[in-house]
Amino acid sequence: MKDGGIIGRGRNEVTSSNDPTAHAEVQAIREACLHLGHFQLKGCEIYTSCEPCPMCIGAIYWSRPDAVYYACTQAEAASIGFDDQFIYEQIALPMPARSIPMKRIDLPDYKLPFATWKTSMNKTEY
Ligand SMILES: [Zn+2]
Repeated sequence: MKDGGIIGRGRNEVTSSNDPTAHAEVQAIREACLHLGHFQLKGCEIYTSCEPCPMCIGAIYWSRPDAVYYACTQAEAASIGFDDQFIYEQIALPMPARSIPMKRIDLPDYKLPFATWKTSMNKTEY
């Protein structure tokens, strides 16, 4: 929502699109950003049927809306099978303790993309 109008809508399309990132909040953020022609949602509010999951919280922080309003709680979502607790627990663990291995690899030019970004004169910071 922006200025009282709906600028983006979303619904969970994970199974219909075979896209694990197609949660309703992410879909709405994508549509709203497309509508605004900008990658941030300053001056906007997100209304969602349930407390956002960890992935959607990340997308919300990256898109920077002014507020999020939700109806169902995490506990209510868990009661019907949408339990995010495992992900919250995994995020809190040190990398070696996580169930999905996440290991740093040492490549010769691994800093090149960041160095390129840092010195770029054509970047849009966010
Ligand atoms: Zn989500």
